[in-house]
Amino acid sequence: MSECEAQSLPTEMTAARVEAHGHLDALKLRTIAVPHPGPGEVLVSVRAAGLNHLDLWVRKGVPGHTFPLPLTPGCDGAGVVIALGPGTRRAKIGDEVIIAPGLSCGVCAACVRGNDPLCTQYGILGETRDGTCAEYVLVPEANLLPRPSQVPWPLAGCFALVSLTAWTMLVDRARLQPGETILVLAGGSGVGSLAIQIGRYIGCRVIATAGGSEKCARLRTLGADETIDHNTEGISERVLELTDQQGVNVVFEHVGEATWDESLRSLAWGGRLVTCGATTGAKATIQLRRLFFKSQSILGSTMGPRGNLHTLVKLLDRGILTPQLSETLPLRDLREAHRKLEAREVFGKVAVIP
Ligand SMILES: [Zn+2]
Repeated sequence: MSECEAQSLPTEMTAARVEAHGHLDALKLRTIAVPHPGPGEVLVSVRAAGLNHLDLWVRKGVPGHTFPLPLTPGCDGAGVVIALGPGTRRAKIGDEVIIAPGLSCGVCAACVRGNDPLCTQYGILGETRDGTCAEYVLVPEANLLPRPSQVPWPLAGCFALVSLTAWTMLVDRARLQPGETILVLAGGSGVGSLAIQIGRYIGCRVIATAGGSEKCARLRTLGADETIDHNTEGISERVLELTDQQGVNVVFEHVGEATWDESLRSLAWGGRLVTCGATTGAKATIQLRRLFFKSQSILGSTMGPRGNLHTLVKLLDRGILTPQLSETLPLRDLREAHRKLEAREVFGKVAVIP
């Protein structure tokens, strides 16, 4: 970066900060110094940041886990490159980008194989270093993806984490095949609504759950063939009815304790259950006899190879995958955005604009 460019950069910015874990008031808006890009890094002016359940954990804290506080939360975002660190090779000032949330060393065996979530130094923006809920964010150049020009900023800013998670679960981990049937739990969530669209794109029959007839109707517009209202219907009972008592080939889980048993009961012989989360609790039991007799698989998945995002951005560009954006709020209303996400008042995503 030349001295001239350095002088034209802002020196201070507004950023959300978690200084100590807690309730909504643990989110503070602070004026802090704008960081300078180090080797291989770029500074992005954030146009929109997408919230995820991870933001809630960063704010509340996780027993037994240490976050590097104080920390700016926010894993997802999109914006414009405004400064380049030494040694950057592809990025240019003015590039409009979507930010990939995963961080890894780039040189270990897992990274070289393209399986960066298995890197021992794997981290996520807004969890292990300052994230996107700020006017500016520093990211490695390798985390930049081109923003399709017709995709509005708030949609671009909340696409990466959910699409990467859902795609990796279904395509890489569960090896979902055309013609199979999948059950998507909580289809109205950020990750669930992407899973419905991916299942449909691959050519599967998609059964999805949600609470209430209104949400169920929205899931059908996203591509769900059948919906189950979990407020009034038993999930596995209804799945077995819909599948001629066979069950589904793949269960897309992220709810955890509240649905785990119903999810397992919905699984066909040879079925695969893939999970990326436990928003209602992490304790679960498994009937081992059922598991081995039926040759079933239980698969864990976190995030996904960064390379998958280059495919996913093309599907975003073509309108095949679209994040469901429920609301866009100014960054100063971040507490309200957290509250809505935590109270499950939203369908899909919430974005904030710095
Ligand atoms: Zn690595």
